[in-house]
Amino acid sequence: MSPIKVDHIAVVVEDMDAALKFWQDALGLPLGGTERNEHEAVEVAFLPVGESRIELLKPISDDSGIAKYLAKRGAGMHHVCIAVTDIEAAMAKIAGQGFELINDTPRTREDGTRYAFVHPKSTGGVMIELYEVPEEKA
Ligand code: ZN
Repeated sequence: MSPIKVDHIAVVVEDMDAALKFWQDALGLPLGGTERNEHEAVEVAFLPVGESRIELLKPISDDSGIAKYLAKRGAGMHHVCIAVTDIEAAMAKIAGQGFELINDTPRTREDGTRYAFVHPKSTGGVMIELYEVPEEKA
């Protein structure tokens, strides 16, 4: 497996419109798309910058992981996502070296992207997401 790039940096926000006033209007990043991820109970906005994206996450339920994070730690940086060519191989290598994965197996987004998370307590405080981008989008 090879890491390809930083796919995105994710930021938890309390108010999507207020967040877009900074990232889109003031900083000038284009709004690449929005989606609701019911599985993670978040509203997501992607703003491309270079080869990467800023991912804004707003909880849509009070009991989701992101909602609990927001209540406990406040708005701010949530995770860094590294795109890889083979997510199973990346997960096996990480787990094999004693780092703690949050997901035992990859989950799949609507667009086919497979993803998994590495627990921040085993990485020095940064939650890492792994993405395996579908072949034609890599
Ligand atoms: Zn992410």
